[in-house]
Amino acid sequence: MQTVVLTGGAGFLGSHLTDRLLAEGYAVIIIDNFITGRRENISHLEGNPSVRLFEQDACDPLRIDEPVDYVMHLASPASPPDFARMPFACLRAGSYATHNLLEFAWEKEARFFLASTSEIYGDPPATNHPQTEDFWGNVNTLGRRAVYDEAKRYAETVTMAYHREYGLDIRIVRIFNTYGPRMRNDDGRVVTNFITQALRDEPLTVYGTGAQTRSFCYVSDLVDGIFRLLLSSEKEPVNIGNPSEFTIRELAERVLELTGSKSPLITKPLLYEDDPQQRCPDISKAERVLGWAPRVSLDEGLPHTITDIRAQLKL
Ligand code: NAD
Repeated sequence: MQTVVLTGGAGFLGSHLTDRLLAEGYAVIIIDNFITGRRENISHLEGNPSVRLFEQDACDPLRIDEPVDYVMHLASPASPPDFARMPFACLRAGSYATHNLLEFAWEKEARFFLASTSEIYGDPPATNHPQTEDFWGNVNTLGRRAVYDEAKRYAETVTMAYHREYGLDIRIVRIFNTYGPRMRNDDGRVVTNFITQALRDEPLTVYGTGAQTRSFCYVSDLVDGIFRLLLSSEKEPVNIGNPSEFTIRELAERVLELTGSKSPLITKPLLYEDDPQQRCPDISKAERVLGWAPRVSLDEGLPHTITDIRAQLKL
């Protein structure tokens, strides 16, 4: 049985990835300090002999003596309110933790997998829309999102340096907005905000005009893309996301329809001055290299997410 060390395994994406890895026959060692993760996300795995949880910071040395085949680094706060709440945790997850795990992977002669993000593209100009992997990005180093964006950019750079200098086997995924069950209802991301507000019959808060666009990938599609990339031979970054683009206002209207809520929409000023106006993946590389494309539409994925948040809110 091959072993995967997975940081951030108690988080939204990490817990779904753990389920997939176990289903594929891997043993998983989860490293998580629960700064944004939830015990409920992995409580169904209690008693499973193929999973172990090490409750620790991914920046600290790992004490794992046995052979390890893959090191997957997903640990990082990931929602915009978390960037403001814990800026240094974002910076440390991208920098110290990445460095620590690269060193660990190198010692174990394991393959290293980095969860990067579409945020490394910053606010893309119209000429770079949708975003291809060869776009270098447009990030304000001093903006409030920079603690996350720049940490992830550094994480990509140091990962590539380990590959070039030491021959470490690497994979880098650039994840675009993903949603689904096990997101925290209060994580401040747009999908959870709208669903929580709609279920509570509170007004839905649209930041800015609501004309800014996002693309939303359902979690099972994302995990499938990650798993394919892990086993592929592609060492350059690959975008994984759903290219169907929606305005924030359209998303709000879909949520209202699917929850049956009569809540009004209200607008507030943008939380961040550098909030990207548009964000959409070009997934032709993933299609070509991984044979991957998303299958789950927003109308199919949102009801599962609504059911999960309804349960979290005990409604
Ligand atoms: P999440 O907050 O649900 O999960 C992150 C997990 O990492 C949590 O369990 C948290 O406790 C843990 N963690 C954070 N810092 C840690 C540290 N220093 N040591 C140990 N554990 C730590 O977020 P998520 O949405 O599941 O995101 C997972 C990864 O995917 C992140 O790296 C994020 O940047 C990336 N990503 C996510 C999205 C998305 O739409 N969800 C988009 C782009 C990139």
